[in-house]
Amino acid sequence: MNCAICGKKLSRISDVTYPLEKHLKNYDVCNECNNRRNDLNIYAKSMDQERYTKARSILVEYLNKITDETAKDYLKNYIESNDSLINKNIHSKMISNFCDNETYKNKVDLFLPKLNNSDIEDKFNKIYNTKNEQIPKNPCYEYDISVINDLPTGEVDLNNMKLEITEHSINGWRLAFTFTNEIGKTTSVIGLGGIAGGINATIDSTILIFERCIRSGQ
Ligand SMILES: [Zn+2]
Repeated sequence: MNCAICGKKLSRISDVTYPLEKHLKNYDVCNECNNRRNDLNIYAKSMDQERYTKARSILVEYLNKITDETAKDYLKNYIESNDSLINKNIHSKMISNFCDNETYKNKVDLFLPKLNNSDIEDKFNKIYNTKNEQIPKNPCYEYDISVINDLPTGEVDLNNMKLEITEHSINGWRLAFTFTNEIGKTTSVIGLGGIAGGINATIDSTILIFERCIRSGQ
């Protein structure tokens, strides 16, 4: 048998092997590869980006050489789930850093000049007085709204949506915003040789809001 990751020949007598996945028989990995994949997870958890990138590139190299679909799928999923783990960890660390009071205060202090109350009022009044002069100079837009309903199976009606967006685009509109609104559920019952099965689908409307500039700013 060969290592499912690096392809090295495994000897039943001299090599320590590990299963690729618990439920998978006939897929073993060598001791080195077992350490490699464990390391990836450790670096993802500890957010060690440098070591993570190195460990990842070695596994990706092996991934590109694996021909067995099962082993390939396993390794691909393993790398992807660790990618999202490290990204999630780094993201939440950034947020917690920013929300931490002291750091937040320091950051805000960097961006905002120190003002006392009368300064703020003064500044605001100046801006407010120019408001009525500015508004007529702003660009002006018109809007259009389209509604695309899901297919009876609950899937997005991709063809119709593409058509709608393309038709608008060639007329100078850009898609500004979309949201979905649930309009109901459908149940279809399929009877087949005395056995009946039901399909439940949630049907949404997708609302597309298009925007077109009809006067540029001055
Ligand atoms: Zn190996």
